[in-house]
Amino acid sequence: MKTEDITRTWYDYFAAQGHERVPSASLISPDPSVLFTIAGMVPFIPYFLGTEKPPYDRAVSVQKCIRTADIEEVGKTARHGTFFQMCGNFSFGDYFKEKAIPMAWELLTTSPDGDPETGRRGFGLDPERLWITVYEDGEERDDEARRIWEDVVGVPRERVIGTGKADNYWNTGQPGPGGPCSEIYYDRGPAYGADGGPAVDETRFIELWNLVFMEERLSEVRSKTDFDVEGPLDRKNIDTGLGLERLAMVLQGVENMYETDQVRPVLDRAAELAGVTYTSTEDPADPNHSTDVRLRMIADHVRSSLMLISDGVRPSNEGGGFVLRRLIRRVILGMRLLGVEEPVFGELVRVSRDSMQGVYPEVATTFETIRSVAEKEEQSFLRTISAGTAKLESAVSSAKSSGTSLSGADAFALHDTYGFPIDLTLEMAAEAGVSVDEGQFRALMAEQRERARADAKGKKSGHADTALYQQLLAGRPTHFTGYTEHTTESRV
Ligand code: ATP
Ligand code: MG
Ligand code: MG
Ligand code: MG
Repeated sequence: MKTEDITRTWYDYFAAQGHERVPSASLISPDPSVLFTIAGMVPFIPYFLGTEKPPYDRAVSVQKCIRTADIEEVGKTARHGTFFQMCGNFSFGDYFKEKAIPMAWELLTTSPDGDPETGRRGFGLDPERLWITVYEDGEERDDEARRIWEDVVGVPRERVIGTGKADNYWNTGQPGPGGPCSEIYYDRGPAYGADGGPAVDETRFIELWNLVFMEERLSEVRSKTDFDVEGPLDRKNIDTGLGLERLAMVLQGVENMYETDQVRPVLDRAAELAGVTYTSTEDPADPNHSTDVRLRMIADHVRSSLMLISDGVRPSNEGGGFVLRRLIRRVILGMRLLGVEEPVFGELVRVSRDSMQGVYPEVATTFETIRSVAEKEEQSFLRTISAGTAKLESAVSSAKSSGTSLSGADAFALHDTYGFPIDLTLEMAAEAGVSVDEGQFRALMAEQRERARADAKGKKSGHADTALYQQLLAGRPTHFTGYTEHTTESRV
């Protein structure tokens, strides 16, 4: 089933059951405190909170999402994109668990040819491969959800497992609506890992769908597991999110989301331009692994860049613009590490447009702008790289002749003066058989961050920018605990 067909089946199923079809909102979050739309529920937050009256009780959507918090997973796991689409069905004070759970099950397991009795079409997944989690955290137990899965739907007890807050309580990272979840996982089979279910192995058992029973109002959210519940919402709501790419990966019988029909063409083109072969491995011990990871990352980031530019984001040094800049630079760096030094972004983004325009015609109508924005950014980064390369080569050759490693100070100077990314320094030094004093490099970076922080004290705008940046890196703002100063960060 092509991704477009999955989307159609999704909309048709819920529209037939009284859900209003709501088109995707922009990737730029309507909520100014969060940069990007990170989930299908984001545009509906006022309806859940009851601050706005929804024009309908039930809605269905396929929402474009960006999660920068997942950036380091991209290409390494099978299932994390920076851009992805979240299929959602929503109830604003209308139906609750007793209906949301059986509907999700019916849609996943009914044949694509349609159920002979109801005529409804589904995705035809083998019920034996589906595992369920319900919220069970100490004293707090969602027995109601467990009962519906076991007694109404008929899932065997051993495939309904209890998990706690970290996995099974949804909040946006901000004060607002929240609630316990119940998730549906797909078992990819013994070739992908040990038995034991999703609590044991999230590679073999892949999370497809999260059903959120949105019924609480959170006054403060310090982390995913540490938040204050102010009280119940006026009405009980349903918010669900099914990963479109993850379902596509299962239905298309491919190894990961980057091999699905909307993403794979970019991966193939990147491999072709680099003259490398993609082998589809997930095994870090496999010698092809780093090339494969790079190709998957490139395919993902090109598509994310396409969709972000199309929604009006432009490369810059702050906010969403910095995320875009970082994505584009990671692609260029990735291609460079695969041996490609010429500009290729225009070509890659064209291929991505071809696979996305069926669903998002705006990527075709605005393509000339998209391409020119991307190519301009690429040119400027390529200039940086070539200035740094000359400097690096001389540092490498003097390290080599004196039989030492490249000093952290040299790596730092390359970064600081030429914006030369440490990844590239490491890789190019390694190619010449020279090691790099990475520890010293990191220490210098940390010192610089400290200085920048001290400088920023008292400057209001500096604080604001940093706060914004922390949020965007986190995707879900309060969970991020890493670096803060983008202007001095080493990795592009
Ligand atoms: P995971 O635990 O696998 O990281 P999640 O619990 O963070 O997923 P949710 O926040 O529950 O994901 O989002 C709802 C659904 O959206 C998930 O069940 C999954 O199918 C999909 N999804 C979430 N993050 C991504 C991503 N980075 N790329 C692709 N699909 C995603
Ligand atoms: Mg996640
Ligand atoms: Mg999860
Ligand atoms: Mg989840």
